[in-house]
Amino acid sequence: MIDAKSVIHKLESTHNASDEELLFLLGGDYDASILFEAADRVRRRVYAGEVYIRGLIEISNYCRNNCLYCGIRASNPNVCRYRLTKEEILACCASGYELGFRTFVMQGGEDGAFDDDTMCDIVAAIKVNHPDCAVTLSLGERSRDSYKRLFDAGADRYLLRHETADSEHYASLHPPKMKLEARKQCLFDLKDIGYQVGSGFMVGSPEQTPECLLADLRFLQALEPDMIGIGPFISHKDTPFADCANGSLELTLTLVAMLRLLFPNALIPATTALGTIAADGRERALRAGANVVMPNLSPKDVREHYSLYDNKAHSGAEAAESLALLKKQVSQAGYEVVVARGDAKKGAVSLNIHNV
Ligand code: SAM
Repeated sequence: MIDAKSVIHKLESTHNASDEELLFLLGGDYDASILFEAADRVRRRVYAGEVYIRGLIEISNYCRNNCLYCGIRASNPNVCRYRLTKEEILACCASGYELGFRTFVMQGGEDGAFDDDTMCDIVAAIKVNHPDCAVTLSLGERSRDSYKRLFDAGADRYLLRHETADSEHYASLHPPKMKLEARKQCLFDLKDIGYQVGSGFMVGSPEQTPECLLADLRFLQALEPDMIGIGPFISHKDTPFADCANGSLELTLTLVAMLRLLFPNALIPATTALGTIAADGRERALRAGANVVMPNLSPKDVREHYSLYDNKAHSGAEAAESLALLKKQVSQAGYEVVVARGDAKKGAVSLNIHNV
């Protein structure tokens, strides 16, 4: 018989637990508030009450891929495709800087128009204009050489969710030409090159089992990323998963808290997908251990077209220009938005991965 309090205490003090104990916590058959409180203690120990903000610029919704869950998949004919120009991206950064953003995240589908020369030019220009800011890229799978060129041009961080660490599950979410091993290789290449690396997964994607989630946690322990982004799967009407159920708020919050306990130093965003399935989803994620929010800094007229899933939030506190509202919500949740690059803290808590 597993006792929730003692497992959570073990996770809080050793930052690890056995497979059986992690599966028990994923099962949710206990009072989740004790898990959230432990996660909050650990996040305050490492990051105090600070919440870092990132300005998210969705640079293109063209994508060569056909991920079965994603609304901007190549074969969706109903997407109004756009790609931002260098000037538009620089204008987003300039207005974001004025608002107080010190990290810009450029995310997009795998769009061949953003080749290495084009992207390196944009990254370098952002660094010239805002040398005190971090540049994060989230542009999918590229060659090691491409990642290296972008790093040398000034990119600091790269976000690439592994999506699921179970290869059969991966194959059920992606077309046959996309392989989990290739995605993992990209992540290890990025780390090796020197990026601060972010990975993560969707919660409640079709056919996901608790064992898949356990594999996700173990893969992240092997990768040791600086950032971990998770959010509920949300269906999109124009995808093969149109009729699939969305991931649950409760399980996503449980995983946010477990990630904080397993990875005390990680940067963990309260994601837009969480804010989409529940009005207070983002605040609840902050109280469960998340310490980053990524409001939308894209030009207003394109936001609705970056439609990864139905009803994706892009107004109110999700919008970068409503930073005052976001700050208020964050402070009501008991935390404080800070103007800073918000790099991951190193060595603040010693990990003991052998103490299972
Ligand atoms: N192309 C880049 C990549 O592959 O990493 C970045 C863009 S991709 C659209 C960003 C993330 O959106 C994916 O990693 C995936 O986890 C998430 N996403 C896509 N469709 C989703 C859905 N239906 N529900 C929840 N998250 C979704």
